Amino acid sequence: MLGVLALAVLLVIVVDRIYGHSSLAFAAAIMMLLVANTPMLRFNCANCGKNAFFRGPFVIPWPNRICTRCGLDLATPPSQNR
Ligand SMILES: [Zn+2]
Repeated sequence: MLGVLALAVLLVIVVDRIYGHSSLAFAAAIMMLLVANTPMLRFNCANCGKNAFFRGPFVIPWPNRICTRCGLDLATPPSQNR
């Protein structure tokens, strides 16, 4: 995930240098991040079901460590408890 984010930032910087400031490259990078994030959008709070990528009205490319609604610690991956 961090690699994809770095790649997206790199893409924006490279296109920015070649073509000047381009909102198209920015949109492409955001699309890339959305595609990369699709499996992670199921990362919901185990207690109240709130998505960890939503912080108020904003969607962030990394999950919250603590649930913003009920305060549950989300840092521990749920797959380890199976
Ligand atoms: Zn919660």
